[in-house]
Amino acid sequence: RIVSGESENMDEQSLEQSLRPQTLKSYIGQDQVKNNLEIFIEAALKRKETLDHVLLYGPPGLGKTTLAAVIANEMGVNMRTTSGPAIERPGDLAAILSGLEPGDVLFIDEIHRLPRAIEEVLYPAMEDFCLDIVIGKGPSARSVRLDLPPFTLVGATTRAGAISAPLRDRFGVLSRLEYYQEHHLVEIIKRTAQIFNTEIDAAGACEIARRSRGTPRIANRLLRRVRDYVQVRADGEISFSLAQESLELLQVDQLGLDHIDHKLLLGIIERFRGGPVGLDTIAASIGEESSTIEDVYEPYLLQIGFLQRTPRGRVVTDLVYHHFQLEVPNN
Ligand code: ADP
Repeated sequence: RIVSGESENMDEQSLEQSLRPQTLKSYIGQDQVKNNLEIFIEAALKRKETLDHVLLYGPPGLGKTTLAAVIANEMGVNMRTTSGPAIERPGDLAAILSGLEPGDVLFIDEIHRLPRAIEEVLYPAMEDFCLDIVIGKGPSARSVRLDLPPFTLVGATTRAGAISAPLRDRFGVLSRLEYYQEHHLVEIIKRTAQIFNTEIDAAGACEIARRSRGTPRIANRLLRRVRDYVQVRADGEISFSLAQESLELLQVDQLGLDHIDHKLLLGIIERFRGGPVGLDTIAASIGEESSTIEDVYEPYLLQIGFLQRTPRGRVVTDLVYHHFQLEVPNN
């Protein structure tokens, strides 16, 4: 799905690597998060201490991994990367932690998917920089405490609510990444175009930004597809009309909605009279997992005011009827 905030495949991931800004200055947007981090980083550097543990949360593609790498770079340390589902046993985490150099950043993506038993290994590591390891089994088992180098844990999650309270409480900095404003996406698109050596005019960049769902990953992906189109059809600068033409062809509408969003929204209107309708019912009616709808499709629709959550389920708003040029029902 071209407008999904999640990365498509390994090729896209390695390409993204080359697009990542390295410093807070070149990290576009998210001003509030950046301003806070700038102060925390400078203070930690002045005190010659490690930075407090940081939890970054927000929808996929907004720049959590990028920001973690920026933090490590600004602190002048290395970053080790892993993810919640990749750590299966407490020993896996112990091996990662004991391999860190003093001051390093450990980035754990999808930290809400860490198994509970592993979370418990993390608590003393985060709080006192030590590991409690049990050696032996049965009556002869004993617990040994191992010291770790001081480190900064940067956790990322799309679901802050799915993180257990004891884990959340151990982060000193909690930062929520917001969907990007259009002018920030324009800056990101221009920066990426420059890296790609692609010519794009202001109106072309605006048109791609408008359809990018507030998400840099989608903006960069749409830019790549538009660039392909322009290369084949016109071989010149990306203009407003070329951007528009190619995005129409990709079935990404003026608000960045695609056929799945259309199916979801029109489904609620046609089958459930606009709602309220439960998440599971919506999921079954369009053949998707409830969690995919909740994590991937719905956040942007809520953000632009197309969907509302009520205690009785999801409801579409008048904006949806206007978008599809349908008559708004009287009730
Ligand atoms: P997440 O970890 O939240 O899913 P990523 O950090 O992988 O998102 O970001 C996806 C892509 O978007 C990156 O390759 C990066 O190039 C781009 N990106 C994200 N945030 C920014 C930003 N603030 N400025 C410029 N590019 C960004």
